[in-house]
Amino acid sequence: MFINLKNNNFAGFKFNTLDKNLREYEIEYSGLKIGTHSWNFKVEDEFFDNFEYSEIHHAHLNVDVIMDKQERLMIFDFNISGFVSLPCDRCLDNMNVDINGSKRLIFKLGKYYSEETDEIIIIPEQNNIIDLSGFIYEFITIMIPIRNVHPNDLNGNSKCNSEILEKLKKHTSKPQLDPRWNKLKDLLN
Ligand SMILES: [Zn+2]
Repeated sequence: MFINLKNNNFAGFKFNTLDKNLREYEIEYSGLKIGTHSWNFKVEDEFFDNFEYSEIHHAHLNVDVIMDKQERLMIFDFNISGFVSLPCDRCLDNMNVDINGSKRLIFKLGKYYSEETDEIIIIPEQNNIIDLSGFIYEFITIMIPIRNVHPNDLNGNSKCNSEILEKLKKHTSKPQLDPRWNKLKDLLN
């Protein structure tokens, strides 16, 4: 029964997961009473091993999920906090990047699986399991800041790996000016 549902419209199947240890993220909601339910997940390194293209390999995150089950819909509120380890954009040494945020998902019963908006998803009535793992993965990646650089210490000195920075400096030659710029300059003169 469980396998059949997975092959059908299994809510949350938008990611290419290697599907190793994600069972705990599968919420069998059909058996739950109307009302509020909650879960807590510790998302660590192994979680990301399930996502083939994950840039995250080290993490320590706490994910609290509260679900409000109603007759024809379920509202999931996610609260995510902790850190992921990623390379610094300047020195490439790993650094801990704080992750903090909340997200909401609303699942409505309908005919076919469809994503109405980022927040509202229609799931077929015969479905009875929602896999939260792909959504949690997506939320964490969305919460990563665009730029991650080691902060300065109390004396205002960069905490970047100075050895690596030196090496990087040596290996990057001065940028060549695109010759087209010169042509453009001529035209302007
Ligand atoms: Zn750095």
